[in-house]
Amino acid sequence: MTATCYSQTVPDNLSQVGRIAKYAQGESDYHDVVRKMLKKLADYLHELSPGCVTRAVVDTAPLLERDYARLSGLGWFGKNTMLINKRKGSNFFIGAVLCDLDLPADLPFESSHCGTCTRCLDVCPTDAFVKEHVLDARRCISYFTIEQRDEPIPLEFRPGIQDWIFGCDLCQEVCPWNRHAPACRQPQLVAASDQLPSAADFLVMNDEEFRERFKNSPLWRTGRIAMARNAAIVLGNSGNFRYLDILENSLQNESQLIRGAAIWAVGQVGNQSSWEKLQDLTESETDQEILDEIRLAQEEITKRLPGG
Ligand code: SF4
Ligand code: SF4
Repeated sequence: MTATCYSQTVPDNLSQVGRIAKYAQGESDYHDVVRKMLKKLADYLHELSPGCVTRAVVDTAPLLERDYARLSGLGWFGKNTMLINKRKGSNFFIGAVLCDLDLPADLPFESSHCGTCTRCLDVCPTDAFVKEHVLDARRCISYFTIEQRDEPIPLEFRPGIQDWIFGCDLCQEVCPWNRHAPACRQPQLVAASDQLPSAADFLVMNDEEFRERFKNSPLWRTGRIAMARNAAIVLGNSGNFRYLDILENSLQNESQLIRGAAIWAVGQVGNQSSWEKLQDLTESETDQEILDEIRLAQEEITKRLPGG
């Protein structure tokens, strides 16, 4: 039995590891979905007030949408920096329609309802919160796995990536205000968990397959190569030697980014035979960063070998 139709198939029992942030699991990009909804709202304003000027924005203008959402009374800033609404939690998108109408203003949301809770701060695997309400984005898994597309993930943060292939939901998942939050009603933005590719799938996927599945999704901007890099890190973090074959098949990948991540991951789950394969690589490898990765991976394997 196999789980996918990707260029290399992945056995069912290996298609379980790897998580994608909730907002990016559907087939569509939320910008497109929310923009359509905002357009309907703008059309309604034009019906009420013909000749008015409107502009719909969703992360597409230099506008601090989160601040305006609080000023509009929608919620408070949680210690995890997210806007939290008492009924909807924090799992929603914010967009705005700018217009030249003189509309009555709502009252700002002035109170905070985090109390003594610190769950979001405590759960972060990469210690990205400098203090309450302050996030160092350069330490956040979302930054590493989504935005830092062209460089290796720094060594010290790789274990903290855990099983996140794209983004991270941890500081929202633990928030008590999300416990009873309503489910998303936009079918394009959700996917059944068995429809989502796993880390192993991403590592073996080719360009065409990636385009076919993700060309309209938020993963598209991050790209196949960075996603395969993330996937290799996740498989290394799994500590499961059953991924060794898939990882070893990527040791000579033409992408330096994928090769480096696969070498690190082999260092996490590999054995004596992997050590020797890594040694063979040193004969043809010319990239000094990759040679450094090989040395570190061999050291990791040696530590686990009897007498290591
Ligand atoms: S998204 Fe994840 S890594 Fe980023 S701050 Fe929240 S818990 Fe930490
Ligand atoms: S987890 Fe607790 S502290 Fe963090 S945002 Fe939610 S309520 Fe506030």
